[in-house]
This record gives sequence, structure tokens and C-alpha cells, in this order.
Amino acid sequence: MGDTVSHTVGATNVTPETLDPQDWRALRALSHRMVDDAIDYVAGVRDRPIWQPMPDSVRDYFDTPLPKTPQPLDSVYRELSENLMPYPMGNIHPRFWGWYMGAGNFTGALGDFLAAVVGSNLGGGDHAATRVEQQLIGWLKDMVGFPATAGGTLTSGGSMANLIGLAVARNVQSGGQIRETGVAGASSAMVFYASDQVHGCHRKALEILGHGNTALRKLPTDGQLRMDTHALRRAIAADRGAGLQPACVIATAGTVNTGAIDDLRDIAEICREEGLWFHVDGCIGALLAIAPDNAWRVAAIEQADSIALDPHKWLHAPFDVGCVLTRDREAHFETFTLDQEYLQKTERGLAAGDWLYEYGPQTSRGFRALKVWMALKEHGVEKFGRLIDQDVAHAKYLAALIEDETDLAMVAAPTINIVCFRFDPGQLGEQHLKRINTEIMLRMQESGFAILSDTTVSGRHCLRVAINNHRTRQSDLDRLVGEVLRLGRDIA
Ligand SMILES: *Cc1c(COP(=O)(O)O)cnc(C)c1O
Repeated sequence: MGDTVSHTVGATNVTPETLDPQDWRALRALSHRMVDDAIDYVAGVRDRPIWQPMPDSVRDYFDTPLPKTPQPLDSVYRELSENLMPYPMGNIHPRFWGWYMGAGNFTGALGDFLAAVVGSNLGGGDHAATRVEQQLIGWLKDMVGFPATAGGTLTSGGSMANLIGLAVARNVQSGGQIRETGVAGASSAMVFYASDQVHGCHRKALEILGHGNTALRKLPTDGQLRMDTHALRRAIAADRGAGLQPACVIATAGTVNTGAIDDLRDIAEICREEGLWFHVDGCIGALLAIAPDNAWRVAAIEQADSIALDPHKWLHAPFDVGCVLTRDREAHFETFTLDQEYLQKTERGLAAGDWLYEYGPQTSRGFRALKVWMALKEHGVEKFGRLIDQDVAHAKYLAALIEDETDLAMVAAPTINIVCFRFDPGQLGEQHLKRINTEIMLRMQESGFAILSDTTVSGRHCLRVAINNHRTRQSDLDRLVGEVLRLGRDIA
């Protein structure tokens, strides 16, 4: 090992080079140290600040020029221990409740490591990694009640999953011509319907797909921030009357603002009657289907034509991994399949397998499946279901604490695991309240105690606690309420 042999390549004498180490033993020792440090890092996460601002030295470190000459790996690692590891986003911490993220899990990290070691390209082919992805997609279909014959693919996340779902929807609704002639060749413009709580990725998707933002009809919501399905029926009729082509309803199972779940049963029926594609954005809520106490909330999700879901949210897979499932596998395939001379399928050999790149825009694809697959094998789906119920129960617990405090006001009571509330001692105007609550949020981040985010619900600015975290304990929520009150009174 470690021998370098000079030999003749062409006419010149060269020392052959490789990225493999000279000394595998030293690499082994360093790698073991990284694993030991990583375990300490995760095991001790509760005792560290959730987030801290980077000092100038760290910003400067990441501003150094392109390295031209080698640096020993242990020295690179030492630098990262100082400049990277202490400055995380914080979402693996038990008191991270900002925006909407999973908390990760160590098995998932090992899965990502092994996936990179195997190094397979999930564009497709007949090798074990493609079996892992297809088996995982099969399990995800099972979770939401989709038939085994359905199609699906893993994606970078929910945004890409929704984009693919909408692409299949519009191809089917175009009657199959749109791949050739584009939206410019359509005789009437398609319309996509969603509630005014819809995630921003749908706008991006429709812009990318060429329909433009005006193709997205944002419908009003009811008192619980669910799509007003009477308004949906009226909008479909009005658009037909105006010569447009109603194409697809995007129902949200778990909105990002408040966790509201659109009436999936009603929307499924409207789509059937009207001949519209029924897409569910289930990035937050689709996996409620595996939670014993809460599965009823997404009953009828199995009637969807396509579902976007996010294993890096409620399955806590390390970023990133999303998934889109399609009831009609053939329609999905027909949206992305190509016949290319440099990628021909064969009867035997490596190219005989399934070519997964024909289910989305990517050609080369990472081995995202393994981290999710390993954690599901290790824990079983029932435990993931219980953890979802636990998050929902935690949100209810927090809501009860808030209701008990006269200086706190609920802005949107939780349907599932998102709580919107604010410090409001009374007598203060909207502007003033926004200033105080924003300051509470920022001080809480800067002290390293907890991460919340904020939003505005029905015109009222509020703190938003999204409890998607298997490390959160009730005592963390007790402390949260105490901190909000303390900071609020201090600032006011
Ligand atoms: C998170 C989320 C998305 C986007 O998913 P990413 O994984 O962040 O790309 C889309 N819709 C909803 C409802 C979400 O919560």
C-alpha cells in the first residue's frame, strides 16, 4: 500500500496520480475520530446553543481563495471543527421550531455516508441502489394508501416533488401535445387552483413550467384557513365560461402557515366531477397517514392523482430528500421519458435495470433513498407514526399553556403541530405588537435558547412554533412559554 510506481504513459515518464490516500491506515484513524466526534456532537446537542452568530474569523475563513496546493486532511478537518461544526442552522436541536424542518437522525447520517461510499448514480441501471430507491418508494406508497402500481420518484425536496406532480398534471391535461409544442401551442390557457395559503413553490413551479403566475388561482379560505370549496366550484365555472382550461386543483394537507388541511374528500369529488387533476401538497401532512391518532385528518389522500411529500420533514431524514407519487405511473413516465442513443436499455447487464431518470428532470441522481430506508428498517414505520402523534400532542400541550397566560394570545390554534401566538399584554397597537414579538424571536435566537419563526395570519403578526422534532420534550415547551413572557415584559 502507498506504493507509487513510475511507468511510461505515451512517451513521457509520469507518476500516476489518484485521489486515494497514500496511507489508508492514517485515513482509517482519522475517519474513526470523525465518527467519534460526530456521535459526541449529536449526543450533546441539547447542551449547546441552538445557534450562534459567526465571528468575523469564521466569515474570513470561508473567504479564502481557491486552494492550489495540498493540505493534510486532518488539518482540513481541524479547521472545520472550529469553523463549521459550532455554527449550524440548529434544526437538530430539541428547541428548533422555526419554519418547517426535520430534526435529522444519526442513522440517516450513516446512510448518507454509506450511500456516498457505494457512490452509485441513481439515474438508474441494474444495481442494488435502484432496488433500494424503488423499495422505499413502494413503502411511501403504502404509507399514504397508494396502490403498488403507482409511479413515483425521490427528489431534492417538496418543491421539486410538487413541480414534477404539476408537470405530469399539465401533460395529461394537455392531451399529450405539450411536450412537443409547449404552452404556446395550447388552444386555451390552463388554470391551477389552490388556497391562498398555498406554498410559494407552486408559483415557482408554474412559472418554470411556462404557465406563469396568473395561471395560479388562489382561492379564499374558511375560518380554519382551509380552501373554500364553494369558491373553488365557482372559479372553475367562471374560468370555463371565460374560455380557459381548468386543469388541476392543488390541495394542501398541512399548510406552512398554520398546518390547515384542505377538505381532501370534497376536493377529490370536485376533481372527479369536473375532470381536473387532483394534486395534494402533503409536504407537511401526507405522513399523518401513518400516525394512529391523526391519520383521519388526511383520509381521502389516497384518491389523489399525485402527492408531494417530504421525508426530510416528518421522517427526519437528513437534508435533502422529497418524494412525488403519481397514481398513473405511465403518465408520469410519459412526461419525462426520452429515447437517447447514448442511454439505450439492454436486455442484460447494467443497462437492463429501471432508468429512474425518466421520472423527473434530473439525469444523474444521488442515492438519497438509503438514509430513509435504513432508519425505517431500524425503527419501523409504527414508531415514526407515534413520533408524529407526539409532535401533535406537544402542540396541543403548548396551546394549553398559552391559553393559561393572560399576556399571551393565540393567533391560530393548532390543527396539527403548528402553533401561532403572540405576546399581547393588551392595549398595544398592531405595529407595536409586531415590534415586540419580532424582538422576542430575535433575542431568543441570539441567546441560543430556541429558534422560532414568525408569520402573519389574517393580518395579525405572530410567533410561529412548528414542532416537527423528535427531541423536543414537554419541559422545553414549559421553558419556551417562560422565556416569551420574560422577554416580552422586558421589551414592553
Ligand atoms: C416545505 C414545504 C414545501 C417545500 O418543500 P421543500 O422540501 O422545502 O422543497 C412545499 N409545500 C409545503 C406545504 C411545505 O411545507
